[in-house]
Amino acid sequence: MASHIVGYPCMGPKRELKFALESFWDGKSSAEDLEKVAADLRASIWKQMSGAGIKYIPSNTFSYYDQMLDTTAMLGAVPPRYNWTGGEIGFSTYFSMARGNASVPAMEMTKCHFIVPELGPDVNFSYASHKAVNEYNEAKSLGVDTVPVLIGPVTYLLLSKPAKGVEKTFPLLSLLDKILPIYKEVIAELKAAGASWIQFDEPTLVLDLESHAFTKAYAELESSLSGLNVLIETYFADVPAAAFKTLTSLSGISGFGFDLVRGGQTLDLIKGGFPSGKYLFAGVVDGRNIWANDLEASLTILQSLEGIVGKDKLVVSTSCSLLHTAVDLINEPKLDQEIKSWLAFAAQKVVEVNALAKALAGEKDEAFFSANAAAQASRKSSPRVTNEAVQKAAAALKGSDHRRATNVSARLDAQQKKLNLPILPTTTIGSFPQTIELRRVRREYKAKKISEEEYIKAIKEEINKVVKLQEELDIDVLVHGEPERNDMVEYFGEQLSGFAFTANGWVQSYGSRCVKPPIIYGDVSRPKPMTVFWSTAAQSMTKRPMKGMLTGPVTILNWSFVRNDQPRFETCYQIALAIKDEVEDLEKAGITVIQIDEAALREGLPLRKAEHAFYLDWAVHSFRITNVGVEDTTQIHTHMCYSEFNDIIHSIINMDADVITIENSRSDEKLLSVFREGVKYGAGIGPGVYDIHSPRIPSTEEIADRINKMLAVLETNILWVNPDCGLKTRKYTEVKPALENMVSAAKLLRTQL
Ligand code: GLN
Ligand code: ZN
Repeated sequence: MASHIVGYPCMGPKRELKFALESFWDGKSSAEDLEKVAADLRASIWKQMSGAGIKYIPSNTFSYYDQMLDTTAMLGAVPPRYNWTGGEIGFSTYFSMARGNASVPAMEMTKCHFIVPELGPDVNFSYASHKAVNEYNEAKSLGVDTVPVLIGPVTYLLLSKPAKGVEKTFPLLSLLDKILPIYKEVIAELKAAGASWIQFDEPTLVLDLESHAFTKAYAELESSLSGLNVLIETYFADVPAAAFKTLTSLSGISGFGFDLVRGGQTLDLIKGGFPSGKYLFAGVVDGRNIWANDLEASLTILQSLEGIVGKDKLVVSTSCSLLHTAVDLINEPKLDQEIKSWLAFAAQKVVEVNALAKALAGEKDEAFFSANAAAQASRKSSPRVTNEAVQKAAAALKGSDHRRATNVSARLDAQQKKLNLPILPTTTIGSFPQTIELRRVRREYKAKKISEEEYIKAIKEEINKVVKLQEELDIDVLVHGEPERNDMVEYFGEQLSGFAFTANGWVQSYGSRCVKPPIIYGDVSRPKPMTVFWSTAAQSMTKRPMKGMLTGPVTILNWSFVRNDQPRFETCYQIALAIKDEVEDLEKAGITVIQIDEAALREGLPLRKAEHAFYLDWAVHSFRITNVGVEDTTQIHTHMCYSEFNDIIHSIINMDADVITIENSRSDEKLLSVFREGVKYGAGIGPGVYDIHSPRIPSTEEIADRINKMLAVLETNILWVNPDCGLKTRKYTEVKPALENMVSAAKLLRTQL
């Protein structure tokens, strides 16, 4: 019985690649140094998988930035502005596309964190990166025969965008004929190198798309593929019935990989009919979370599949690439033992896949299976997981609506009586620059090197500085600057029960950027107030309104590893109830403006459109739960880090916040339609008036101009003036003049209205 891994994290167990990349980018180490670190990581991954007994081991899933960009390099689809003159693409062109260089900005990065190909009818494709073949040979020289992985041609095109100057409606799939010859060259070279399998990742098959492009592409490739075993891998969701049919009817394909964790319906489709003689790569081990597999349950599924596809055609696999999970539990010596027994990171998942394959082959490792069963049982019965009261409270929320009793216009009137703000009120999004000194104070407090009193004193001084600065700048609604927070999710997770934290549980976000999501393992509750102390301290330093600053439930959920033993919405409702307690405590403590950030609401949108409505419904409901209990006079703000609302505007309105601040530094036009909706909605809107992601300081005129453009579509009395996100990553030398100009612009316009 065979085993297969779709893909493996590249960062290394201790983020070795990150540090090597950053050192290379800073000019502190050479290209050879970087290549050496990368080669060592690849070698250790291949050896680990072959040592574990995996039969189909992937190659070319390693990337210096992301696999879409690697494919762009393979196809030579370098946008002209990078002045690439042909030949093999090296680091300089590659990283310029990823990160920009002194004279040219980077290519666009999507919210899904890959570099988007920019294509048009004139792109001259050429075979310009031999990475796939090189990696295959590299593994072979280490004695490991691998399955080279390529992003499939259809997915590559579907994830691209028309280049600047090319019509937005340009049919990207029309480029299929131009890229297939390059794929053929790659295939021929892989064949010549001795590859016996090749894997095409075509995750876009799970979207509801018309699928004749797939048929066309693989029919075209069929003759070049002959002599090779071909695997088409899909993941992240159920494959729709029509796409399943298209896929499994393709000729010349030897095997199909499915995500059976997120694809329950796919399982039924397979049971309903699977082409005989083909391999089924059954993705039963979840590549997107950190939970140990329920091996007995998986074994049952696999045994039922065995009856359908035949014993020798069933391959045990991961649901998707392990890129989306943490690397190795072995580096978590401090994690609680019981919680640890419930987890599996990439390295452990490889072992699980192999254990399942062996069990199917009649060589069940009884000790391994019974340890796994014991861990599953302990997770089900552990009192640390279940909190009856929380379960009951969350269950009571379902099916009922939670909405503030008064409508938004009436609430804004009541709030204005209390707040007495000028028109075009100014505010900021929350954080102020996080200095090295500040990070040191937090670190030393955590390491118990300084006392609680010293810590409180230092943080209060920082808050006082930020408050005084905002008063000097004459900002209307102040923030405390978030100096006590390292991260907007971790800060709350650390104070809520049901959360665990890892030391090295990093997941690549893109390039060298990694995130370390908290693990939500149990019912979530709030033992005591989390922000009231700092917010009231800050409010006591000023007569102006001080915003309470919270992270919303949906964002906490979407930026964590979430438990898989109950639906996501239930966990979200639990977090919402905890945040609700905090909101009400802030209100009781005299805080009259409370911002509940939902930076990541959009990120949680399911891949498939058909599932959007359900997600948005519970996500928005969760947000409303947090503030349903406040007085009309308490003003609820929310903030979102993006500017694409066209498809979700009704849900945004449905959040029923009093004021919403959003990112708007990049795409004004797109927002206009949203603004119009906003007018009808009546709530306050603060589209960012300048981009905090750049060190550039915008002038008063520029900001005034921007506000004027907004005023052309928005009513004067609902517009707020603010930057487009928190100021955490900026320096004071940038923040001060920028905010000065922002306030001047608001004042200038007030005199003209
Ligand atoms: N309040 C947070 C801050 O200002 C919001 C950050 C975010 O939206 N990502 O840092
Ligand atoms: Zn933001």
